[in-house]
Amino acid sequence: MPLYEYELCDGSCAACGGRFTLRRPVTAPDLKQCPSCRKPVRKIISGFFTPSLLKPLSITDAKKAGFTVLKKTSKGEYERQ
Ligand SMILES: [Zn+2]
Repeated sequence: MPLYEYELCDGSCAACGGRFTLRRPVTAPDLKQCPSCRKPVRKIISGFFTPSLLKPLSITDAKKAGFTVLKKTSKGEYERQ
């Protein structure tokens, strides 16, 4: 299950400190309230927990992602690999 980070829309919360992380199934609806204090929360969009951002992007990954990979030929032109 992915880890989601939430913060209070406003105010503070003694139970969660105003910012907390929750492990939730992808299929679960967005959390709208702090589970402890019921104050409104918003999800923090962060790439920190995205594993694909942590490893270097290879040509294979780029191709899988739909990029066209161009290779410079000895003649100084670019061609599709
Ligand atoms: Zn709270």
